[in-house]
Amino acid sequence: MTGATAEPRIDLHTHSNCSDGTLSPAELVALAATRNIELLALTDHDTMAGCDAAAAACRPLGMRFVPGIELTCGWREREIHVVGLALDALNPELAAHTADLLRLRRERISEIGRRLTRHGLDGAALAERALAMAIAPTRMHVARLLSAQAVVATPQQAFDKLLGRGKPGYAPAQWPTVEHTVQCISAAGGIAVLAHPHRYQFSHGALRDLCAYFKAVGGAGIEVSLAGLSPTDFNRLAALARRFGLSGSVGSDFHEPGIPWRPLGRFAKLPDLVTPITLRLVA
Ligand code: MN
Ligand code: MN
Ligand code: MN
Repeated sequence: MTGATAEPRIDLHTHSNCSDGTLSPAELVALAATRNIELLALTDHDTMAGCDAAAAACRPLGMRFVPGIELTCGWREREIHVVGLALDALNPELAAHTADLLRLRRERISEIGRRLTRHGLDGAALAERALAMAIAPTRMHVARLLSAQAVVATPQQAFDKLLGRGKPGYAPAQWPTVEHTVQCISAAGGIAVLAHPHRYQFSHGALRDLCAYFKAVGGAGIEVSLAGLSPTDFNRLAALARRFGLSGSVGSDFHEPGIPWRPLGRFAKLPDLVTPITLRLVA
């Protein structure tokens, strides 16, 4: 699919080290340039802190940049992610919302530390170090530390054994509603996209309910083409997009070069019957 010819690419879901990615915004843009990406969004968890640096790095390369974010919210006791694209980072409503989210994140990391301490680990030191690792500290930061300290073999194993739902270090969080999240994105002039719906482990019925609700509260798109998606999930997401009149978005959810199954800018093309979200990004 990617042969020797340089086919222009789009990636509307990526992370930098402002959240749980490992590359700086400028390093991310430099990598995107080597992948022939012509339209790039930076969508860090709950912060747009990297967008100015990414935009500045894109400019001399002639790469189009879309300022973005991946906002954490809750629905039916699950953590849901909504990507906001082309929004104004300086909008006061959005800024207040992300400030709340970053406070929730910091409190959650501290609580994870307390729970890990009760489990016999040095939770206070782990939490302190995780909090210093990024503007938006995440469980992945704790997982990487646990892996680096050989408490577990890999970051994934940290989730499986310690940090995942129901595990000793799991700390529940009260995230804002999807409705309020979409409102904040709209207030900042952005487009709301339901991120990786297949990863929430909802039943087909619940996923339809979520899409209907998302559309009703002002959501515009749904991620249809993602790196590493199975053909079954790809068809399922395309069907949801068509059924609920949501535009299709594309992205790798790239976090780090060392993770081969989420390569920057590599994923299947949108099916013809799905309206591309890029049509809404054209000013
Ligand atoms: Mn992440
Ligand atoms: Mn996500
Ligand atoms: Mn993501």
